[in-house]
Amino acid sequence: MIPEKIAPETAMMGFGYFPEWSEGAVKCPMFQTSTFVFPSAEAGKSYFEKALGRPGHENEPMGLIYSRINNPGIEILENRLRLWDEAEAAAVFSSGMSAISTTLLAFLRPGDVLLYSNPLYGGTHKFVHQILPAFGVEVIGFRPHMERDEIIDMLQASGHAARLRMVYVETPANPTNDLIDIRMAADIARQFSTAEKQVLTVVDNTYMGPIWQHPLQLGADIVLYSATKYLGGHSDLIAGSAAGNTSLMTAVKRMRTVMGTNSDPHTAWLLLRSLETLRLRMNAAEANARVIADWLVQHPEVIKVIYLGHLDESHGDQYSIFKRQCKGNGAMISFIIKGGEKGAFRFLNHLHHIKLAVSLGGTESLAEHPGTMTHADVPDEEKLALGIVPGLVRLSVGVERVEDLIADLEQALEVVNSEWSMVKEEKR
Ligand SMILES: *Cc1c(COP(=O)(O)O)cnc(C)c1O
Repeated sequence: MIPEKIAPETAMMGFGYFPEWSEGAVKCPMFQTSTFVFPSAEAGKSYFEKALGRPGHENEPMGLIYSRINNPGIEILENRLRLWDEAEAAAVFSSGMSAISTTLLAFLRPGDVLLYSNPLYGGTHKFVHQILPAFGVEVIGFRPHMERDEIIDMLQASGHAARLRMVYVETPANPTNDLIDIRMAADIARQFSTAEKQVLTVVDNTYMGPIWQHPLQLGADIVLYSATKYLGGHSDLIAGSAAGNTSLMTAVKRMRTVMGTNSDPHTAWLLLRSLETLRLRMNAAEANARVIADWLVQHPEVIKVIYLGHLDESHGDQYSIFKRQCKGNGAMISFIIKGGEKGAFRFLNHLHHIKLAVSLGGTESLAEHPGTMTHADVPDEEKLALGIVPGLVRLSVGVERVEDLIADLEQALEVVNSEWSMVKEEKR
């Protein structure tokens, strides 16, 4: 049977690039240039009119002007990125944080209300709590497990529900893997939308996308990524992306041009290469994570394993959200080690192959301690309410041979409770 259209993983090898543009080069070369020669003064004038959104140029393609605005490699990358989420358009950025901040600033105005899910990625949390309120944006957070009606009551109680402009969701939550119902978020946004004002649903899909979760198909308007993670996938670049319909992405790109948060030709080129193996890498990491999570559950030094693949009927709404919105189990595992922070640190200090580092979604496995590292800034009582306990360790599973990873985990866990290491450390 011949498929109707090619899959994204097939399109990644050449979509949007023609070898005759570049001496027959199979791969899209890097257009390492800051500016572009206009064919004529008239063409330059019309490129600018298009870029400035002047009427009469709606159906013209964007001409190449200057690499803060556009660049061939970046445009080809954007055209490939949108395929994974079946979006009309995509925009790349210099980091996940610039994708997030630029997108939020493109739509939020003083007096607007932002409704967001907790917990958020640390940088996003700072942006939402310290930067946006300074510009007059009111921010209201909700927790996983809150019902739709509870969230709406909280919004109404603020007295500013009519100024709701955006619902911002991060799911699964980091590092607790708590799920937020994207359809519910989009429903709330629709309920508060009017003829004059569309309330936008924006989802940070870094943990699961674009293979294991597709927020735009669940009713979201914009999907955001830290492309530093799975999209880049090799822990060697920093980038971000946004995708959605053409009119929303045009607004986001205008803000990007002014703020100067576009990516650069070299990073875009690295990302084009990374996207060719995206599905392979994510599939391999997911398969490894399953084996590791199942192994951890039976280990006597491990109190609890938090892994999406272990959700079942006993988890109630979390399981039904999972079945409705996730297409895979992901490759992020959090687990609680006996002995609190001391036990967790002893474990982390004795890993060999698995590196002690923040970040995630790379080919190599990484482990970190959320309580004192990625989530150090979260107040203590909030940490406990969210389940970020002292013994919690977060593991981003890579694509190594899984037996090697398990052997590493096993020897490090052995040390956690061994008498000699305690004595040795006490003496230090
Ligand atoms: C890493 C991360 C970000 C920030 O991305 P950068 O590329 O580091 O700026 C945002 N959201 C989530 C969920 C992340 O994991």
